[in-house]
Amino acid sequence: MRWKGRQQSGNVEDRRAMGGRRMVAGGGVGILVVVAIVWLMGGDPSQVVNTLQTAGGEYGAVDSSVIQAEAELAQFASVVLKDTEDVWRALFSESGMTYRDPTLVLFSGSVQSACGFSSSATGPFYCPGDEKLYIDLSFLAQLQQRLGATGDFAMAYIIAHEVGHHVQNLLGTMNQMQSLRGRVSETEYNASMVRLELQADFLAGVWAHHAQRTKNILEEGDVDEAVGAAAAVGDDRIQMESQGYVVPDAFTHGTSEQRKGWFLKGFRTGAVNQGDTFSSSD
Ligand SMILES: [Zn+2]
Repeated sequence: MRWKGRQQSGNVEDRRAMGGRRMVAGGGVGILVVVAIVWLMGGDPSQVVNTLQTAGGEYGAVDSSVIQAEAELAQFASVVLKDTEDVWRALFSESGMTYRDPTLVLFSGSVQSACGFSSSATGPFYCPGDEKLYIDLSFLAQLQQRLGATGDFAMAYIIAHEVGHHVQNLLGTMNQMQSLRGRVSETEYNASMVRLELQADFLAGVWAHHAQRTKNILEEGDVDEAVGAAAAVGDDRIQMESQGYVVPDAFTHGTSEQRKGWFLKGFRTGAVNQGDTFSSSD
C-alpha cells in the first residue's frame, strides 16, 4: 500500500505511554515483536536484530528500536484512518447524511473504554459507547506470527473493518442488534452477530474500492493481503455498549470463505446498498 508521506488523521489518541512498554522492552518477546513489525512494514528485520544484539542489553537501545518501529506503525494507522474519514465522509454526504469521525486509540497492555476494561488479548475492537476504535500495535505482530497474515494492507483491512463497525453504529445497525439481545435465542443472536461481522468486512471492501478510486493507494498483492487477513483474523469481539464483554465461547464469526466473499463484494461494487448480509443466504 502506498502510504508514506501521505496525510495523517488528527483523530488518533495515543495511550501507549500510559500502558507502559514493559513487554516489548523486555527482551525475547520484544525482539520478536520488533522483527515482525519491521517485516510487516517492508523493512529488513536482520538489521534490527543485529542492532539489538550489539546493544547487548534489554533496555536502552532496544527500547529506542521498539519506539521507532512502533512510531512507523502508528503513522501508518493514522494515514489509513484519514483515508477512511475521506471515503466515509463522501459516501455519507452523497446520501444526505453526516459522518462523525471515530477516534483511533493506540494502547499497549490494557485499556479502559466506555465498554469496560480490555487487555491486548481482546484484539482490535470498536466501542460504540465512545465511538472509538482500540488497537494494540503488537496485535499486528501476533497476526503475522500466529495466523500468517502478512503485509501492510492486511493491517489497513483490520482498521477498515473496525471503522466498518463505526459505520454500522452510525447507521443504527448496532442498535438493532442490541435490541435483539434477550428477545431472541442465544443461537439466533449469535447468527446475527456473524452477519454483523460479515457486513463490517463488506464495508472494509467498500472503503478499499473508493480509496483506490480516489487515491490510487493499492500496490500489487494488496488485495490478496486483505483477503488473507479477512480469513485469518479471529473474533474481534465487539463490545456492545452497556453489555460488557461478549462471551467469546458463544461467539462465532463467518467462515473464511464468507469473510473473503463479503470483503471482495464490497471491493468490487463499492456500493453500500449491496451489503445486506442480514437477509442474504450466504
Ligand atoms: Zn468485527
